[in-house]
Amino acid sequence: MASPSHSPSDHIDVFWHDGMLKHDAGTGVFDMAIDPGFLDVLEKHPENSDRVKNMVSIIRRGPISPYISWHPGRSALIPELLSFHTPEYIKELVQADESGGKTLCVGTILNPGSWDASLLAAGSTLSAMKHILDGHGKLAYALVRPPGHHAQPAQADGYCFLNNAGLAVQLALDSGCRSVAVIDIDVHYGNGTAEGFYSSDKVLTISLHMNHGSWGPSHPQKGSVDELGEGKGFGFNLNIPLPNGTGDRGYEYAMTKLVVPAVRKFEPAMMVMVVGQDSSAFDPNGRQCLTMEGYREIGRIVRRLADKHSDGRLLIVQEGGYHITYSAYCLHATLEGVLNLPLPLLSDPIAYYPEDEALALKVVDSIKQYWKETVPFSGED
Ligand SMILES: [Zn+2]
Repeated sequence: MASPSHSPSDHIDVFWHDGMLKHDAGTGVFDMAIDPGFLDVLEKHPENSDRVKNMVSIIRRGPISPYISWHPGRSALIPELLSFHTPEYIKELVQADESGGKTLCVGTILNPGSWDASLLAAGSTLSAMKHILDGHGKLAYALVRPPGHHAQPAQADGYCFLNNAGLAVQLALDSGCRSVAVIDIDVHYGNGTAEGFYSSDKVLTISLHMNHGSWGPSHPQKGSVDELGEGKGFGFNLNIPLPNGTGDRGYEYAMTKLVVPAVRKFEPAMMVMVVGQDSSAFDPNGRQCLTMEGYREIGRIVRRLADKHSDGRLLIVQEGGYHITYSAYCLHATLEGVLNLPLPLLSDPIAYYPEDEALALKVVDSIKQYWKETVPFSGED
């Protein structure tokens, strides 16, 4: 078992390719590529390249940079995509690209350049996982876009085309990895990843999210506590819908009371943390009020779990996070936590919203009780 304390040799291997900047979902009213005609100033689609440029630059030039090793990303090959997605769906995407683009569902717009970027996101995430599987490193971060966790085996959704994390999980399983735990802290339900492994008892998918429910035909899942998986996968999909405004303390409570015991019982051979900075206090797409300190603590908790269960092996996969500057800061804080650094390297420039944690704590306690009564592998701690 690895020591939970920081060792100076710790570093994070980051996989990145600037071809991912070529995906451009256009401008309009927030994430709708429409011009209503009565606004003088339209805005970029929230999932734009600026957000990720800042994520790249903050870990390239921020105080965390000495702990980062950079690796080139690569394009996924079509046959690799079929480990998670259906051939019909991949054909639909290829044809959409060949015909010059297509809106696949609300806000999810494949334009010229988007497909190449998607292949790079998928391939870079696969490379990051392979890096860990081959024993070249234990902590790897796939800094990718377009995001992936809403992409289901046969359905695009929520700005996502290919499920980058899902493909990496499947690669781990296909490489002989016994079991994988996925912890998704993006503010939205990781419905695509959940759907891909809904019948599997080898993948524990846990998602902490805003209680947004279903948002239409591309996202029929509700993200509710009773979506627990099916068949032999029953109990291996754990949803933690948290009230708006949950904040740092509420997230820490949910991680400690719900996530840590579940992962401990599951004993994964590999851990995947799916990160979205759209759970931050300033994100236009979320209402969960995390600050840098909350992200830092989540990073620490997940690192401890990896040290304890998966020999320190942890893949981090980038998802949402739409505030152009604060998302980068929250990413920096998350990686500080993952590195288990004793003191913050970067202070929070804008956190000041008050938290109202009381409801969040109550909700976590009631989910805990529900799991005890319903989830077969749960039970007493
Ligand atoms: Zn999100």
